[in-house]
Amino acid sequence: MAGASHDLLVIGAGPAGSAAAITAAQAGLRVALIDKAVFPRDKLCGGGVTGRACRYAQAVFGPLPQDLFHTSRSVRFASGPATLARLAPAPAIQMTMRSAFDAALRAKAIAAGAEDFCGQRLAVCDPEAGHVTLADGRALSAPVVIGADGVHSQVARRLFGRAQDPATLGFALEVELPGRPGPDTELDMTALPYGYGWDFPKAQGRTLGIGGLSVDEKDMRARFELWLRARGIDPASVRIKGHHLPSGASRAVPGRGAVLLAGDAAGLVDPITGEGIAWAILSGQRAAEAAVEALAIGQPGRALPLYQRRLEPVRQELRRARLLARLVYHPMLQPRLLRVLARSDHFQRRYMALLAGEMDYADLGPRRLLGVAWRVLRGRAA
Ligand SMILES: Cc1cc2nc3c(=O)[nH]c(=O)nc-3n(C[C@H](O)[C@H](O)[C@H](O)COP(=O)(O)OP(=O)(O)OC[C@H]3O[C@@H](n4cnc5c(N)ncnc54)[C@H](O)[C@@H]3O)c2cc1C
Repeated sequence: MAGASHDLLVIGAGPAGSAAAITAAQAGLRVALIDKAVFPRDKLCGGGVTGRACRYAQAVFGPLPQDLFHTSRSVRFASGPATLARLAPAPAIQMTMRSAFDAALRAKAIAAGAEDFCGQRLAVCDPEAGHVTLADGRALSAPVVIGADGVHSQVARRLFGRAQDPATLGFALEVELPGRPGPDTELDMTALPYGYGWDFPKAQGRTLGIGGLSVDEKDMRARFELWLRARGIDPASVRIKGHHLPSGASRAVPGRGAVLLAGDAAGLVDPITGEGIAWAILSGQRAAEAAVEALAIGQPGRALPLYQRRLEPVRQELRRARLLARLVYHPMLQPRLLRVLARSDHFQRRYMALLAGEMDYADLGPRRLLGVAWRVLRGRAA
């Protein structure tokens, strides 16, 4: 593209965009990292950074400051007020505040050479022409564009008319409670049909929320207020916020030509656990690698097939999760699953290993999956 200001425009500076920007900048591309927000900015999220996410973050961004994280090593599985089981020690999960975490990742991308265009809305967004104009009038262009602008992606809307299929969107509500962290991570397995509730300990407080798939958003607030009251929290004393999760289906074709979608913009969230940070980082990295390769061969339009090949293992993993979600959240099977979970230490460890990102769905394999299904159907622990 003659006279382009950059080689790559990355729109969105969350984990996906920062991962794309740092990967491309380190490969020598001229990268513009664009976000409407000024960082640090809030992002509604449980902030659970799994072992998988830590590995990807370390590989892409290098070491991160340890004070970003609070390590949780015990978990209470609950069903409403009843404790089903407590696992301690449990596979560790690092808990973070997204404002600080995302700001640290973005700072690494800028330090690696990506040019900072954060704090500006897009006045014009024409990704297929490789062109955007910022609200302050600056025009930026590049032969490849990565849309990492979250669940309501403007880039995806420009390509496909809508960012996500509303029928597959999940929804979650959360509050932040400052103060001392609780002793355990708590997972309320029956807070919602097709979802769960969480109470995540943080260095300076807790994040509590409920969320899932196929939820009736209108009904959620009243349900959440009851859930908070059951925990001794007056809903009037906290600020309740809601956000969509693209956990129902990943986009079959994550982009078009030289425009690639990464992270939530591509629908890459686990439908069982709600985990999205790991997939955002990995897909951002993979999108940038595809951009680098397409530009090296002088064919920016090849970026999409190169990206799709690299993204296939992620899409396969999320496909497996979607299959398993039908079992885990099936209204007839869930009570049996909870009985097995309550009785079996082995099952609790496996569940937490999945949740903490120590194990992939692929590691379950068809035989183990059938074993799980059999035990759940019989409602037996062993
Ligand atoms: C309530 C809740 C709890 C969650 N808990 C967890 C959890 O514990 N662990 C986990 O792994 N995942 C969790 N997730 C999922 C996780 O938050 C997302 O999957 C993850 O943030 C995706 O990263 P991203 O970079 O794709 O998008 P985002 O983090 O959403 O970043 C997108 C960026 O794009 C910018 N942007 C948007 N529109 C524009 C525009 N038009 N122009 C310029 N910039 C734009 C935004 O300002 C933002 O900075 C949770 C999600 C929710 C809603």
